[in-house]
Amino acid sequence: MSKAPQLHQKPEKFIRTADHPAVVLLHAGFWLTAGFAVIALPFFVLLTGDFRPPPIGVLWDFSMGCGFAALSLTAIQFALTGRIRVLTSPFGADIVYVFHRFLSWGAVALMFAHFGVLYFWYEPALGVLNPLKARWELTLGRLALLCFAALIVTSELRKRVKLDYHWWRVIHVSLAVIGFAAAVAHVLGVGKYSAMEDTRSLWIGVTVVWVGFILWSRLVRPLVQTFNPWRVVSNEDEGGGVHTLTLRPEGRPLTAWRPGQFAWLSIGHSPWSMKEHPFTISTAPDRGPQISVSIKALGDDSGRLIKTQPGAVAYVDGPFGTFSIDREAAAEGFVMVAGGVGITPVIANLHALQSRKDPRPVILIYANATLDVVAFRDELDRIAQDIDLTIVHVLEEVPDGWTGETGRIDEAVLERHLPDRSRSWPHMLCGPAPMTGAVIKALRKMGVSARQIDLEVFDMV
Ligand SMILES: Cc1cc2nc3c(=O)[nH]c(=O)nc-3n(C[C@H](O)[C@H](O)[C@H](O)COP(=O)(O)OP(=O)(O)OC[C@H]3O[C@@H](n4cnc5c(N)ncnc54)[C@H](O)[C@@H]3O)c2cc1C
Repeated sequence: MSKAPQLHQKPEKFIRTADHPAVVLLHAGFWLTAGFAVIALPFFVLLTGDFRPPPIGVLWDFSMGCGFAALSLTAIQFALTGRIRVLTSPFGADIVYVFHRFLSWGAVALMFAHFGVLYFWYEPALGVLNPLKARWELTLGRLALLCFAALIVTSELRKRVKLDYHWWRVIHVSLAVIGFAAAVAHVLGVGKYSAMEDTRSLWIGVTVVWVGFILWSRLVRPLVQTFNPWRVVSNEDEGGGVHTLTLRPEGRPLTAWRPGQFAWLSIGHSPWSMKEHPFTISTAPDRGPQISVSIKALGDDSGRLIKTQPGAVAYVDGPFGTFSIDREAAAEGFVMVAGGVGITPVIANLHALQSRKDPRPVILIYANATLDVVAFRDELDRIAQDIDLTIVHVLEEVPDGWTGETGRIDEAVLERHLPDRSRSWPHMLCGPAPMTGAVIKALRKMGVSARQIDLEVFDMV
């Protein structure tokens, strides 16, 4: 199956300094420190200056601390979800979204702690609950609490109550903006810790920065996209219900994307519509400036996108993501495991190895329901002519005469095809969650360290 290439270019040639593990670690360390600093800043200013109002009690101070920490954590969410590339690149966009989810839980828990302590120990300070009679700034605090609680509930229950993804997103952004505005107005209106000129400026300054993030992601970024449209030049059926759209830049092309990265794509809607979806760029950067995305219909919008006719205008926002061979300069080979449409980031990485004539061995284990739905079957065979690629198809239902693997990918399948020397190679996984979960478990049992396993998640929320 594999042919050793004659010529090859040194993989190091394609590694950017930013992908060096030490630089990635430094980046990650910087952002984590910056995050803690943002949370700590209000406490530092309030506790070290002359701004502190006379103490009322430990529980009162605890409640106020929870309130300020909640507001800082909430503000950080706008940066986390604002698609800021320097922030997401050390971690990967999917990890950042997981982080966003857990921090949001933390922020809402702190808000409830803030309100709960006041409710149980200082109830008179809350005044009347009736918004028609209550002080406006206290009503706004309660409105913020309700908005953020609703954000968590709608996100956690979205799939169970079958809330349409697009409408969930509209509700999510609206609740976040209203809740944050109400929370800031609450702090400024109550004024206990923000009445002095300096602390008031701190809160207003911090708010301006966070509003800047919102304007950047919801206004400036879409505006930039409208000046840089793309044109769909072809739509090819790859088999298995996957269609590859090739796009030509009509404005500024994407620069410097790494194989395996993804972009947000919108076709048939303006960049402001929030009807954009993430898709892997399935061509290698070495083949730019045209890019391709390979889409499988999994819902309404992807079903519509696979029918796109050449000539349609598209908007592309990217690149994002870290599922890339370029982050593995020192690897001696690669194990790639894909299930269904999870093949797209794998294909992008294989295209890069192919066009660079990279001699390193790759073992691809590729799971599908039947042979008919295997996407990129011929393309994979073509790539295997050029690089040292071993392809292992694993089919749930097999055709007559099939001699390959049957069933699902499990430890026995992996043991049969992964030689001992591959344990130290990077293992790149993309596919349905039950498949990747089972594969990770099996690989760990086989002695592959967690650090050697990289996962691309197609379901960020
Ligand atoms: C990093 C990444 C790379 C991806 N690459 C590919 C690819 O190369 N090829 C491919 O076919 N699919 C890919 N996907 C999946 C693709 O984005 C979804 O299948 C698509 O968004 C479904 O939209 P829909 O309206 O058709 O389905 P819906 O029924 O609306 O949604 C189905 C599910 O897809 C998810 N989803 C929908 N819209 C979005 C969105 N805007 N952002 C995040 N998740 C969303 C939600 O969990 C939703 O429940 C990728 C996803 C991610 C996160």
